[in-house]
Amino acid sequence: MEARGRKKVGVVGYGTMGKWHQDKLGKSGVAEVVAIYDIDPEKYEAPEAAPLKKCANLGELLSLSLDFVIVATPNDTHKGISIKAIETGKHVLCEKPAAMNARELEDVLKAAESKGRVFSVHQNRRWDRDFRIVKKVYDERILGAPFFIESRMQGSNGIPGDWRTKKAFGGGMLMDWGVHLIDQILWMVKSPVVEAYSQVLRIKSEECDDQVKAMMRFENGVNTLVEVNTFSLIPEWRWHFCGEYGSFYIDDIMHCGGSMRKLNPVIRPAAGGAIAESGPTRTFAPRSPDTYTDLPLPGDVETDYLNLYRNFVDACEGGELIVKPAESLRVMRLIDVLFECAEKGVSFKGRL
Ligand code: NAD
Repeated sequence: MEARGRKKVGVVGYGTMGKWHQDKLGKSGVAEVVAIYDIDPEKYEAPEAAPLKKCANLGELLSLSLDFVIVATPNDTHKGISIKAIETGKHVLCEKPAAMNARELEDVLKAAESKGRVFSVHQNRRWDRDFRIVKKVYDERILGAPFFIESRMQGSNGIPGDWRTKKAFGGGMLMDWGVHLIDQILWMVKSPVVEAYSQVLRIKSEECDDQVKAMMRFENGVNTLVEVNTFSLIPEWRWHFCGEYGSFYIDDIMHCGGSMRKLNPVIRPAAGGAIAESGPTRTFAPRSPDTYTDLPLPGDVETDYLNLYRNFVDACEGGELIVKPAESLRVMRLIDVLFECAEKGVSFKGRL
C-alpha cells in the first residue's frame, strides 16, 4: 500500500471526528488528510489545521484532486454532502449514522452505484476489544449456542449539549450509540431479525431520546437487548452473554474485565436451596462449584481499528469492503423500525 503512495483525503466537518480522522488516517500509513472544509471558519484556527488546505466552501474541496472524502458533519447533512462528493467522482467514507433514515441512505447508495464509487460508513466500534471478545465467543461457539446477549452503554452525563440534543440535526441516542451497538449485533449474529420491540425515551433531554432499550429476536434463535442509558449513576455491565453451556460478562469498554463460567461436562443438579429473609428459593440457589469452571475471557482478538481505513483504501482499488453498504442500510432500516415501534407502542414481526 505504502509503495503506491498515501491517498489524499478531504474531510468535511473539522470538529471532534474531523480531527480524529486526520490523526488516525495519518497513523494508518495508507492515506493522509490534505484538505478540510467546515462551515465554521473558527475551526481552521486549531493548531492541527495548520498544514492543511482550508477550503472556502464544499465545492472548492470537491474540486480538488482527492482520492476520497470523509464526511464528519452532524447527521442531517450526511446525505447531501455524500451525494455531492460522489457526483464529483469521489469515494466516500461517511460518519455514522450514514443518513437520517433508510430512505435517505438508499438515495446515497443509488448515487454511489450509478457513479461506480465506494461508499462505506465509519463503524469503528467493530474493532472495540469488548465487542471482539463477544464476537469470538459467538463465532467459535465457546459456550455453545447463544440464547441471550445483552449489550449496554450506560453513563450519567446525559447527551452532550450540542447538535446531538436537537432532532433536526439527527440527535438522540438511538442515532448515536444505538447505531454502533446495533451494527455490532447485526454484524455478529448474521441472521434475520424476526421480532423487535423498543422504548425510546426522553428522561433528562428536552428534545431527543436519551434512553433506549431495544429487544430483538433473530431467526437463528438468538435474542438480544441493546440499551443506551445516559443517566445511570451505577452502570450495569457492558455485555452479558448466556449460551447453552455457560455465561460471561464484560464490565466496560475501557478495561474489558469480566469472567466466564462454563459448565463441566458431567452436570449435577445445583445442591440445596437459598433463603432470603422473606422466603426460600431453589430456582436461584447458588450452583454447586464442582459443576462449572471459571475461565478467563479470550484475549487473542483483532483490535487494530486502523484496518478500517486500510480496508477502505483497498476497496477503492477493487477489494471487498468490511463495512458493506447493504449492512449499513439494514442498520438504518432497523433503526426506523425501532423508532416506529416506540412511537406506536407496537412490536415488529417480519424478516429484516
Ligand atoms: P462536532 O460538532 O464536533 O463536529 C462537526 C463539525 O461539522 C463542526 O465543526 C461543524 O462546524 C461542522 N459542520 C456542520 N455542518 C456542516 C456543513 N454543512 N458543512 C461543513 N461543516 C459542517 O461533531 P462530531 O462529534 O465530530 O460528530 C460528527 C459526526 O461524527 C456525526 O455524524 C457523529 O455521529 C459522528 N461521530 C462518530 C463517532 C465514532 O466513533 N464513529 C464519534 C463521535 C461522532
